Amino acid sequence: MSDRASVLLIYTGGTIGMWADPRTGALQPMDLAHLEQQVPELERINVHLESVAFEKPIDSSDMQPADWVRIAELIGTHYERFDGFVVLHGSDTMAYTASALSFLLEGLTKPVVLTGSQLPIGTIRTDARENLITAIEIAGAKDAEGRAQVPEVCVYFEYRLLRGNRTVKVHAERFEAFRSPNWPTLAEAGVHIRYDRSAMLPPRSGPLNVHAELDQRVAVLRLFPGIGADWVDHALRAPGLQAVVVTTFGSGNGPTDPGFIAALRNARERGIVLLNVTQCVGGRVEQGRYTTSTAFEEMGMIACADMTVEAALTKAMFLLGQGGTAALTQGMATPIAGEFTLA
Ligand code: ASP
Repeated sequence: MSDRASVLLIYTGGTIGMWADPRTGALQPMDLAHLEQQVPELERINVHLESVAFEKPIDSSDMQPADWVRIAELIGTHYERFDGFVVLHGSDTMAYTASALSFLLEGLTKPVVLTGSQLPIGTIRTDARENLITAIEIAGAKDAEGRAQVPEVCVYFEYRLLRGNRTVKVHAERFEAFRSPNWPTLAEAGVHIRYDRSAMLPPRSGPLNVHAELDQRVAVLRLFPGIGADWVDHALRAPGLQAVVVTTFGSGNGPTDPGFIAALRNARERGIVLLNVTQCVGGRVEQGRYTTSTAFEEMGMIACADMTVEAALTKAMFLLGQGGTAALTQGMATPIAGEFTLA
């Protein structure tokens, strides 16, 4: 048996595999065979590569929670046969998918590397080729003891490997589209790929347990100066709503307007779980530090430390799916896959 690493490529869509419709000029997905033809170098990588694809590749703006489960289940089905997994995915919602996968894949000990590109693979200045080839190399990389270099879900883009559930898309055009403001880079690719083991999750022990339950009755409410109490009250009365990620100012602050606070308090009384995540890209929520967050603290809003909106939202769907609002209220304060830093 060969000691070459085996990597499974899971193609979901995104710009990486798009081509321009000659009639309209709009980008649309191409199938996996066409994509592979664009990168003849894949034949020469010292990795045994196999691939599976969504029957219909999609722009990641069309990704749904059911698709996250589908990707997780594909990884589960092929887990024993492969050393690592590369998920080709549109960059727009990649941070959401990476976050969701980090919760769905309990006990993961192998790399799951999401990557994509800002320019389609067939274009001359494309960033796709490097992203794809290095992502495959990382997914197959092992340390001196033969263990996976990166035993977690991550995003590889433009020479940097980032923890998936710490990642945010910060640029619509630059090749360096992602950042992980609250967690160090896991690896940097230059002449060599330098891994920072101290930034990675501690070794976990299998077996892999793939979860498939996500409860979508969650919403995001972004605060802004002038936000209307009536509008907030109306939004929080959406039928079936279980939890809301409230994106707040600075270290977790919001207006002290009594009508606005009453709308939130009433929602809490109806059993809705409120999660406090900062709108800032870096730093953490500290409820009660300013008087503009004391009411949040008093009504039992859950401060989500330095979690991204993407991580908080997908974690809420995951925990609600596990055991409703009781599991959500209890589980938010414990990191599942390194998604926040304990104070
Ligand atoms: N709209 C594309 C997508 O997310 C953008 C990209 O792939 O970068 O699928």
